[in-house]
Amino acid sequence: MAITRRQMLLGTGAVVVVGGVAMTVPMLRRPGHMAPSVSRASPVAGDTELPAQADVVVVGAGIMGVATAYYLAEKGLSVVVCEKGLVAAEQSSRAYGQVTNWGQKEEVTALGQQSKLLWSGMNEKLGADTSYRAYGRVQAFEKDEDIEDAREWLQKAQAVAPAHAPLTGRFVEGAELAQLIPGAQSAWKQGLYIPDDGGMEPALAAPAVARGAQKLGVKIVTQCAVRGFETEAGAVSGVVTEKGLIKAKQVVVAGGTWSRLLLGNADINFPVLPVYLSQQRLSVVNGAPPAVGAAGMVVWRTEVDGSFSNGPRYMTAPVTRDSLVLLPGFATSLVGMLASETPLDFTLGKDFYHSFEVERRWAMNEVSPFESLRTMAPVHNDGTLDECLGWIREEFPVFQQSQPIERWAGTIDVASDQIPVISPVPAMPGLFVMGAFSFGLTQGLGAGQLMADLVTGSPTKIDAQPFQLGRLL
Ligand SMILES: Cc1cc2nc3c(=O)[nH]c(=O)nc-3n(C[C@H](O)[C@H](O)[C@H](O)COP(=O)(O)OP(=O)(O)OC[C@H]3O[C@@H](n4cnc5c(N)ncnc54)[C@H](O)[C@@H]3O)c2cc1C
Repeated sequence: MAITRRQMLLGTGAVVVVGGVAMTVPMLRRPGHMAPSVSRASPVAGDTELPAQADVVVVGAGIMGVATAYYLAEKGLSVVVCEKGLVAAEQSSRAYGQVTNWGQKEEVTALGQQSKLLWSGMNEKLGADTSYRAYGRVQAFEKDEDIEDAREWLQKAQAVAPAHAPLTGRFVEGAELAQLIPGAQSAWKQGLYIPDDGGMEPALAAPAVARGAQKLGVKIVTQCAVRGFETEAGAVSGVVTEKGLIKAKQVVVAGGTWSRLLLGNADINFPVLPVYLSQQRLSVVNGAPPAVGAAGMVVWRTEVDGSFSNGPRYMTAPVTRDSLVLLPGFATSLVGMLASETPLDFTLGKDFYHSFEVERRWAMNEVSPFESLRTMAPVHNDGTLDECLGWIREEFPVFQQSQPIERWAGTIDVASDQIPVISPVPAMPGLFVMGAFSFGLTQGLGAGQLMADLVTGSPTKIDAQPFQLGRLL
């Protein structure tokens, strides 16, 4: 029987559809959903009294909120930070904790470098240990084409790094590389070593900055959700919280993964989507690779107590109402992310249903969703963490003697171009927003300083243009 061209096309189409569905179904079955959680952060005593007014109100006490408050207070402004849960209880205490610009877009180099500079002087400024350590980072490569790509990345990043905070980095091989990755089993050819990259403890860093801000007079009111904004003649004039009103002519939204919901209720589009990552801490073991590094799928970071961070090589995007709404804007970056070496899966489940249930509109005298979702985090994924543990044990057999001592997960919010937002909100004078940081611990101090300069109209240390909200609208 002859097969017509139409039948052949239909047949090919069917194979593609069936193949596509077969590929997509397992990807959609990755477990993971948001659930009430507890903070990993070192506790910071919050203020209970709600001030009636302030020069600036900051929404959210993650690293972005507390760093912004710190730099605003340094300029002499009165600042209140409102936090729906506890200081750094969400993203900021759930990170992996490496401090680096490696592999990121050129646009964020200056932000990362400026931030590293600020972190390096912060212990002295605060008179306290933020846990930041500039102990160097190595990225090992096996293939010539990867080494070429890394050389190109370094060259471009160095060209745009600020003169006062240059990006140093060099390629190492032989004995020098072997010292950085002792006992590695693969034939790593070269490594990119960045001496002033490093790490910090997510549970300690933002709380240390928060305490420093409090010493400068910042009030951090915890268990205090911001429901929305009060305006006068279209400009912001205060925030309405669950504990009452705070008058302020300037408001910075640093609400992490919740900023989209908060701004949405004020008819302001903030097009970011969440991605979940699981993370684990491994017990102390002698002879493990030092400092922080990555070799293929294996990542490690020495924590200040000698244990090791390991994990986040799987990203899981929850399919929600917002992913459907924002899909057109994210389509191109999605293709890029699917092609990248870090696997991106999707989860279609509880969060999908919840995203249609959650209140998106509320009045200022009504309870907002932030009051019922105080401290939230995705549940961690044991399957992917076991796999990451397998990889690190295969590459560095010394980890056979090391056991997982803690597992958790966190959310990062991403923009379609994977560049953060640190920006005024054009639709509401006096309102500012910062978010979409996937390397927000690295960039936290630089971003806080930049935001403080934008709020006060001061000259900025780095160019603010790449971080404008308008580029996404
Ligand atoms: C697993 C994982 C690994 C990571 N690894 C790294 C890494 O190695 N290096 C790195 O540099 N970065 C890393 N990151 C990213 C980094 O943790 C984030 O970019 C950063 O913490 C974001 O800080 P934030 O202040 O914007 O958000 P958050 O820390 O989430 O803070 C936002 C705060 O706002 C509060 N809030 C929200 N809405 C309201 C409201 N309406 N009223 C009052 N309060 C509100 C929330 O409760 C929350 O405490 C990682 C993140 C994860 C999850």
